[in-house]
Amino acid sequence: MKKNGNYYSLSTKVAISFSLLSSFIFSVSILALYFTLEYYIYHNNTNFLNNEINIIENIFKQHPDDASALKQEIIWEPGLSGSHYMARIFKSNGEVFLETPGMKKIMPAANINELLTQNHSLLRAPLKANHKYYRMMVKRLAINDKEEKFIVIQVAADITHEYHLLQFYKNYLLIMLAVGIILSSLLSYWMAQWLLKPLRQFIDKITTQSIDTLDKQIIIHPNSDEMHRLLTEFNGMLERIHREYQKIQRFSSDVAHELRTPLNNLLLIAEDYLATTSHQENSREIFHSIIDESNRLSKIIDQLLFITQADAMKVTLKKTTFPASEEIKKLIEYFGILAETNHIQLNVAGEATLVADRTLFSQALSNLLSNAIKYSPSGSVIEITIHSTKTGVHITVCDSGVGISATQLPYIFDRFYRVDESRNTSTGGYGLGLSIVKSIMDIHDGEIRVESELGKGSRFTLLFYY
Ligand code: ADP
Repeated sequence: MKKNGNYYSLSTKVAISFSLLSSFIFSVSILALYFTLEYYIYHNNTNFLNNEINIIENIFKQHPDDASALKQEIIWEPGLSGSHYMARIFKSNGEVFLETPGMKKIMPAANINELLTQNHSLLRAPLKANHKYYRMMVKRLAINDKEEKFIVIQVAADITHEYHLLQFYKNYLLIMLAVGIILSSLLSYWMAQWLLKPLRQFIDKITTQSIDTLDKQIIIHPNSDEMHRLLTEFNGMLERIHREYQKIQRFSSDVAHELRTPLNNLLLIAEDYLATTSHQENSREIFHSIIDESNRLSKIIDQLLFITQADAMKVTLKKTTFPASEEIKKLIEYFGILAETNHIQLNVAGEATLVADRTLFSQALSNLLSNAIKYSPSGSVIEITIHSTKTGVHITVCDSGVGISATQLPYIFDRFYRVDESRNTSTGGYGLGLSIVKSIMDIHDGEIRVESELGKGSRFTLLFYY
């Protein structure tokens, strides 16, 4: 539906639909009312005329040679007050045998063959004569068995009163119909405006919404459950977008920050190198530093690349079936020296067969183990447990280290998020380790869960579903 190149508003469409529907129902009801009344009157007239013809027919059959009884019915009876019918009998040659006085003036005797074409039928449109309306019925009645001798009975009833009543009703109902349609259209328009008011307010509000006002909820007074749900869902969506937007903002600034430090260091080293008079003396040291910083940069870039590729589902999984403990034992061996230096004991318990990308699984567990060692005090124990459930394999890394507070727990899987905000932490991480673990679990359609208490320790669980 278009109006001057623009689409009609929803409220106009709703108003038009309501009004068309109510007008249709109204018209159908009124027409049904009128036709029921018309049919009722028509039916009464037919019964009356049929009845009259039957009376005349019976009299004729019972007294074929005595015209007095017929005269009583055709000539005298219609004259009595309250009677409103006329009757006429034709002979087979077309001559009028008997007729109600005055009938000739109202309904002249017609050709019987012509009349018989309407034999025993009721004409729908009433006959009009002398400002009155009549219904007529004709019947041919055989006198002997061979049918060559017959009479034709013509009966007419005055229906002026019923006719006027119907006309009055017709006009009255037409006026009612017109008023009804106008009223229902006005009401439909008002109803559509009222129903869609919150939607218009909602549109007004979202047109003023910008990236800076994402944290502001849209408040209007909904008038229906659907509108309430739309608002709730929309506000929920705003909140999610706001959260994601904040993450992206934080991520961009973190990327800039993380890359700036090693780059600045590289710059300083290069400047320092150029400033020294004797390049030969400290060049080895300087180049070591350059390599260290470059390694740091390249590590960050590699990890970032992996996370973004995993997010875009661009990492191809090479799934194989292997015993989980096999890979875990290799890692324990690898971390053995580091753990020993920190007087930390690594224990493994349980067994299960895993279907996963072996390298990525090893990478995920290595990140968890390195964290557990980093954040555990000397002399503590780190337990790694493997167990299979009905739904999948659970691998848990449990330490009794520094733990994470409840307020920081929701953010630890965010990129570059570190509990120690100073970034000068001796732990040396970039805040990407857990993001990588989460990405690995996501591409395996698995999950990572964490339970932690500040000062008591943390429990990270990898869930691989069957
Ligand atoms: P990082 O490389 O800095 O360790 P991660 O993404 O691996 O980054 O971890 C994010 C943050 O979560 C860390 O800065 C650390 O504060 C916290 N964290 C991770 N594992 C543990 C753990 N086992 N115990 C205590 N804190 C942890």
